[in-house]
Amino acid sequence: MAHIVVIGAGLGGTIAAYQLRDELGAEHNVSVVGWGERFSFVPSNPWVAVGWRDRSSIEVNLVPVFKRRKIGFYSQGARRLDAAERRIELMDGASVSYDYLVIATGPDLAFDEIEGLGPDAGTYSICRADHAVQTKEAVERLIRHPGPVVVGAVQGASCFGPAYEFAFILDKALRDAKVRDRVPMTFVTSEPYIGHLGIDGVGDTKGLLESELRQKHIKWICNAKVEKIESGKISVSELAEDGPVIRVHELASSFTMLLPAFRGVEAIRGITGLTNPRGFVLIDKRQRNPAFPEIFAVGVCVAIPPMATTPVAVGVPKTGFMIESMVTATVRNIKRLLRNELPDAEATWNAVCLADFGDSGVAFVAQPQIPPRNVNWSSSGAWVHAAKVGFEKYYLHKMRSGTAEPIYERLALHALGIEKLKDIKIEETEASAPQ
Ligand code: FAD
Repeated sequence: MAHIVVIGAGLGGTIAAYQLRDELGAEHNVSVVGWGERFSFVPSNPWVAVGWRDRSSIEVNLVPVFKRRKIGFYSQGARRLDAAERRIELMDGASVSYDYLVIATGPDLAFDEIEGLGPDAGTYSICRADHAVQTKEAVERLIRHPGPVVVGAVQGASCFGPAYEFAFILDKALRDAKVRDRVPMTFVTSEPYIGHLGIDGVGDTKGLLESELRQKHIKWICNAKVEKIESGKISVSELAEDGPVIRVHELASSFTMLLPAFRGVEAIRGITGLTNPRGFVLIDKRQRNPAFPEIFAVGVCVAIPPMATTPVAVGVPKTGFMIESMVTATVRNIKRLLRNELPDAEATWNAVCLADFGDSGVAFVAQPQIPPRNVNWSSSGAWVHAAKVGFEKYYLHKMRSGTAEPIYERLALHALGIEKLKDIKIEETEASAPQ
């Protein structure tokens, strides 16, 4: 009998636990170490931040679901991983040992890397549900006292889709409140061009997103390095393609939402052989850490090098479909190891994303994520908003019912009209030694 532990009960960790329970026999134990008892659907945070969703409607109490699925649950959080001892120290001093570990701890938000950035320093965030609730209160104040707004993503960020989403959703919320005419908006991004998204664009994301920004009267600054944020003022250096600063902007702002850079969480950061200097987990093509082969990692916590050098650092995004394919590959590989077979499954490096703008949106499919690609498709329209609502409902249903079933998700979106999804499948390679 083996004990497989997942750290992190977010998007990747929860479906990993469900899939492990589905795939492994009753003779094996599956447990999750979470931070609190609730699953929170991160992609809906922008809606919470403008009051279109309550926090409670995008959260799921995992205790009864895990109990029903016979998955052990330690909700007190992991303080530190002892990879050499195959043990996790929990926040209350207890510890959990494992035979195989899946790390799914998502990002630590590196607000402290820029002076004045983050909810503790006066800017707003949509990265966590509690941040989104705080942001909603600030949006309400903005509607009462309109003033200039800055939205975007700072140097080192890897999550650009939600920054665009939030800018357009906020625009819609302000239009609905009839105060948009008193709110000058600027989109500030470390991307070299609008629609780059950390992956050199997909299809015509440059044209589509520039056009949306223009139509919505949102100015933008690319190659932007945020130097510091003081009350009501943001200092931004704009870099040329070859690196030097070409312009320094002092932007007045009465409401600022800038996505931070990510790094690995404290419980795993700085473990030699396990993590890179920013604390992301090093993995081979089969999601397995080379130094600790009983450890796998999925989701935002994995190390992926930037795809190319850009004037201002940008990271590669890890989106839901990609994470789901990492989970499926990981579960298959652990199952094979338990049967004394070599791991053979690799995740696909596809980016599939629906960016909602409140009344329309942009969708894209990049296969593989890094160009040149076999599928390089983007599209826009009101259908994207409807598809995103469907995606949320479907995902939350999956979380509440304790089912993983990744294939259904692909089929659901396929039915919603993203034809290119038919090309997406988990690739299985010949069995070979782990790299
Ligand atoms: P998370 O979902 O963040 O889960 C990590 C979990 O680990 C959290 O529950 C955290 O509390 C827990 N944890 C951390 N440290 C510990 C510890 N020490 N002990 C125990 N637990 C711990 N992708 C899309 O495909 N579509 C979208 O529309 C989309 N929208 C996004 C919107 C926003 C605002 C953001 C930030 C990202 C979005 N993404 C989207 C990207 C990505 O899909 C999500 O970030 C997703 O939640 C990442 O999944 P994850 O499992 O890696 O991390």
